[in-house]
Amino acid sequence: MRVLHVCTEIYPLLKTGGLADVAGALPAAQAREGCDARVLVPGFPALRAGILDQQPVAELGSVFGAASVRLLRGVLPDSGVSAYVIDAPDLYDRPGNPYADAANHAYPDNLQRFALLGWVAARMAEGLDPAWRPQVVHAHDWHAGLAPAYLKAAEHATGRKLAGSVQTIHNLAYQGNFPGHLFGYLGLPAHFFDINGVEFHGQCSFLKAGLFFADKITTVSPTYAREIQHAEQGCGLDGLLRARANDLSGILNGVDDAVWNPAVDAAIPARYDAGMPAGKRACKAALQREAGLAVRDDGPLFVIVSRLTEQKGLHLVLAALPLIVQRGGQFMLLGSGDKALEDAFRAAAADQPQSVAVRIGYDEQLSHRLIAAGDVILVPSRFEPCGLTQLYGLKYGTLPLVRRVGGLADTVVDASLENLGDGLATGFVFEAFDESGIGAALRRAFALYEREADWRQVQALGMRQQFDWDAAADHYAALYQQIATT
Ligand code: ADP
Repeated sequence: MRVLHVCTEIYPLLKTGGLADVAGALPAAQAREGCDARVLVPGFPALRAGILDQQPVAELGSVFGAASVRLLRGVLPDSGVSAYVIDAPDLYDRPGNPYADAANHAYPDNLQRFALLGWVAARMAEGLDPAWRPQVVHAHDWHAGLAPAYLKAAEHATGRKLAGSVQTIHNLAYQGNFPGHLFGYLGLPAHFFDINGVEFHGQCSFLKAGLFFADKITTVSPTYAREIQHAEQGCGLDGLLRARANDLSGILNGVDDAVWNPAVDAAIPARYDAGMPAGKRACKAALQREAGLAVRDDGPLFVIVSRLTEQKGLHLVLAALPLIVQRGGQFMLLGSGDKALEDAFRAAAADQPQSVAVRIGYDEQLSHRLIAAGDVILVPSRFEPCGLTQLYGLKYGTLPLVRRVGGLADTVVDASLENLGDGLATGFVFEAFDESGIGAALRRAFALYEREADWRQVQALGMRQQFDWDAAADHYAALYQQIATT
């Protein structure tokens, strides 16, 4: 099976969120199972620099406002997965964040930048690389959402289906909506600008295009797949998703064991596993020293690694910090994003330096040290398509405390008395998105921390959970079988 993943980030070369982890791990897992999975990415500087052995495949000339566009083919380091790179310096050769300028304003030509990505994907299905033509084009998030639309347009023009298509939603809140008058730049048939097509409340919506035109739609957890069919989490697209319910499924993300595994992790000061938890205590003490926190183990250390956005429910954590500190707990956050949240967390750390530590920024190595050192990882999201840090927490014996939403609901079992009795508990789960909801879950965490044997039992069960990419790869393989061209 020949599959082309169309995406914008790939761990470890370029990452702003969970999408990169998926794009780094899923094609590699598929390749291990014998699938010829490749990736197509824009030639952002980090990807141009990091993808090995790039060779020209095709000249595309001047398209989407770029003076000269080429398709290159190289290899991802480590996994050896083949990677096609769109070399279009006018559109992609910009420093920093791939989507926005230094002031965090979306680039004014993002419509052209990401239309080119979808367009090249469809051209590849037409045979742009004479040596390799995908049977399935797998588009990730809004950036790749026009790929299914261009494929459909080519199908209309040629009278034959060029490739099956899958649109995966990693986060429905990011839709790639642009003013409707720009539709003409896309080069799609005029009748595609319609409620049954690209048009969304008068705008061009890249994600809606993917959701409308793809053969299959997936998202990254079964619960999120259900939630987005309702108004509360549907971001205005719930009607379309309900109409396509038969083609929509949720496939849970996995954890890349080569990157996130406390038994072999070179980024943490001591290695450990479920049978040898002493290393975890050493990780906690080392982080406390590093962060200037009091070095002690008589209370739980709560950690967070997150983008600082409204989605992540971090105002609830700010409100709960006094409770954490009063009860003898400690807290450390690593994250960046919303300036008001950054300032509020900084101020909390300045107030209570023995108990609260904050690092604003993006730091892959530190994220490992935090997750290894913590007793509890907090993920109180308003919505969460899958969530990865709670999965890392499980693997590292750092009990997740999460809201019962999206992938968090699918992956963590609350330490209620009955779940503890039945040996099912792996963390703490709360329902109401308010201070009382998170407060009750925090009290459960403090209570369990006092009962060391019960704590160890929950921790050990969490560490044994399997969220591997091979299982996800099997689910995607079954889906591809239904839609692949020959
Ligand atoms: P989202 O994709 O919504 O940001 P996920 O939990 O799915 O949330 O994935 C977030 C990924 O980004 C995780 O791998 C997490 O460890 C990482 N991450 C988030 N913020 C930071 C940070 N400040 N430093 C290092 N890694 C981070």
